[in-house]
Amino acid sequence: MPDLSVPELLDLDRRHVWHPYGPMPGRAEPLVVESASGVRLRLADGSGELVDGMSSWWSAVHGYNHPVLNEAARGQLGRMSHVMFGGLTHEPAVRLAKLLVDMSPQGLEHVFLADSGSVSVEVAVKMCLQYWRSLGRPAKQRLLTWRGGYHGDTWQPMSVCDPEGGMHELWSGVLPRQVFADAPPAEYDESYADGLRSMIERHAHELAAVIVEPVVQGAGGMRFHSPAYLRVLREACDAHDVLLVFDEIATGFGRTGALFAADHAAVTPDVMCVGKALTGGYLTMAATLCTSRVAEGISRGEVPVLAHGPTFMGNPLAAAVACASLGLLLGQDWAAEVRRIETGLREGLAAARELPGVRDVRVLGAIGVVQLDHEIDMQAATAAAVREGVWLRPFRDLVYTMPPYVTDDADLARITRAVCAAAREG
Ligand SMILES: *Cc1c(COP(=O)(O)O)cnc(C)c1O
Repeated sequence: MPDLSVPELLDLDRRHVWHPYGPMPGRAEPLVVESASGVRLRLADGSGELVDGMSSWWSAVHGYNHPVLNEAARGQLGRMSHVMFGGLTHEPAVRLAKLLVDMSPQGLEHVFLADSGSVSVEVAVKMCLQYWRSLGRPAKQRLLTWRGGYHGDTWQPMSVCDPEGGMHELWSGVLPRQVFADAPPAEYDESYADGLRSMIERHAHELAAVIVEPVVQGAGGMRFHSPAYLRVLREACDAHDVLLVFDEIATGFGRTGALFAADHAAVTPDVMCVGKALTGGYLTMAATLCTSRVAEGISRGEVPVLAHGPTFMGNPLAAAVACASLGLLLGQDWAAEVRRIETGLREGLAAARELPGVRDVRVLGAIGVVQLDHEIDMQAATAAAVREGVWLRPFRDLVYTMPPYVTDDADLARITRAVCAAAREG
């Protein structure tokens, strides 16, 4: 196939290629990216570069085309890009698992390497259900969560996404029926906490686990809540024999200002999912971590194995890049970088408070959110950001940014100007 011109590419794309949450044939015209470096995406139509305010959905924390990550990938490519994980093992996967155990909350000891965030949530749910089955309590097979969540697009994760207004509403009669608490208030509220406690107690006989995104609810609405709720969940789960799962796929690896959002409350969940920034945005990989209690429980069962094994489990190329990415993160003062970005977002987004149609402006760690009082005009808002030289992907009533940690102050100011422009014109 000869090189395709931009119009040819767009035409073929529209006719043949699904995009996230997209129609077929495609309606909105995507931008064609030719390459990316640092925090910039270079467009193929010759119009120049955009500063990436999205980190490719939370993942590219060190920026694109990073020499250290490139070298890790190249080095691993020369040895092997993949071998099956059944009956075989290799250093990149073992090193990655050890790194994750060492950096994650105390007590998480065992690692299942999955190939995407959604799969890691499936595995987390399977672990919890199987744990209770192995202990002779098969009735414990439902999940409790709070509204406003997002846990991925495959079946079990969809069942714990926000049941209303979310993207999976269509399936409400088909999905497993889970138990939903109200969305957590931003500030700690004792009566809300009491409600959570009594709901967990009331449903304990049928609950395998409580699953939540700790501190920040991402794609379900970009809402923040008090870390004190995590302690409430931990205590109630312990008191009533329910497992606790934290989905840290978006929040993990420093994004909220703590290495993991669980660290804000010094709570260890029984099971934890990570993904997105795990490989620095290079390759698809996620992981499900669990405690020895969960692993040993499963191993005591009538089926003493965890029956899950994706073809590309533990992919050496992704694992090698993940090790390098975590090395980069831990090898610098990541917390200072995230604090610097937090300050820049607070200063730059303050102006958005004065805009008509803006309901709320909130910042936590390297996450900045402007919430409107209306559904955004996505095309107009995206175009406004692009005119400011920035890539943003607003949705619902939200314009938000989670920049790469390497974004310098000038580019950060550009991003916040673009968020304000998108909020004004969306
Ligand atoms: C993105 C995300 C997922 C799903 O991860 P994929 O890699 O897209 O399957 C699950 N949970 C949370 C909190 C996420 O942000």
